[in-house]
Amino acid sequence: MAQPPVSSNLDPATRAALIERVRFYRDLGLTEFYRRPVDPALLAPLDTPLTCHPERPEGVEGPASSIENETLGAPSIPRLSAEWVGDHETQSETILPNATQETPTIAPRKPIFAPPQQPAATPAADRAAALQLIREDIGDCTRCALHKGRNKIVFADGPPDARLMFVGEGPGADEDAQGIPFVGKAGQLLNNMIVAMGLRRDQVYIANVVKCRPPGNRTPEPDEGNTCSPFLFRQIDVVRPQVIVALGATAATYLLGQRQPLAGLRGRVHAWRGSQLIVTYHPAYLLRDPRQKKEAWADLQIAMRELGLKAKPV
Ligand code: URA
Repeated sequence: MAQPPVSSNLDPATRAALIERVRFYRDLGLTEFYRRPVDPALLAPLDTPLTCHPERPEGVEGPASSIENETLGAPSIPRLSAEWVGDHETQSETILPNATQETPTIAPRKPIFAPPQQPAATPAADRAAALQLIREDIGDCTRCALHKGRNKIVFADGPPDARLMFVGEGPGADEDAQGIPFVGKAGQLLNNMIVAMGLRRDQVYIANVVKCRPPGNRTPEPDEGNTCSPFLFRQIDVVRPQVIVALGATAATYLLGQRQPLAGLRGRVHAWRGSQLIVTYHPAYLLRDPRQKKEAWADLQIAMRELGLKAKPV
């Protein structure tokens, strides 16, 4: 005689716990361990997909190359490896300043504003003065709450006529102390990335969405980003880099004026106010998950192609 289904003997709490356990085993791929007939009611919910993650987390996205080729219709650049790509084991696992959530799943509470119309180009000879004017407009800023915890305003680093610009999220502790963007551990990785591209740091312009350090290196609140990012847009309008690399989701969000998963933005070129915008992972995220460095390197190769730089083995 067939034995009764397991679940019919159980009190509701045990049954619920058992369902949880079965789900857990199923997540592990273990499904074939029943020795007795199982109540179909117990299995029914398991056949329904568990839709906790409507969007694929960015940390597990696929390679960028297919998107890249599809979108640009251009031959792909061979994926040559670079020194900074292959040093997984030596990287610190510490959560670093502005380790930016690469998987933005929470909608902003306030809208992110798109940049305004682009003004006329500033002649190269006037750019340093134009940038100085922006710095003076910022002044000893108290426009948002971030000023309360800051030591130094981190305006930017780099030449006013740079062809390549990197945009990060906001200063961390080292940057707040020195007043220079990307000088901490994430900055060291960024420096390596720049060198791997065949450039020197003093050839690129580096700035952030917000110029004051968010407390505890949290992601800037929308009102902070919206208050500060117009200064970034003005800086970009003066420098007019040929290529902008947005480092992480926050930079991409404020530059593009919309919040989208990084997965859909990486691996291709976005036309942006006369510049070519490329989105990649934030270096702090790469320090935490070095496996993504290959994908970031593929993004940087797109930037190199736009700049006419040759990919070379390092
Ligand atoms: N992270 C950023 O986004 N910017 C910096 O300047 C440093 C760390």
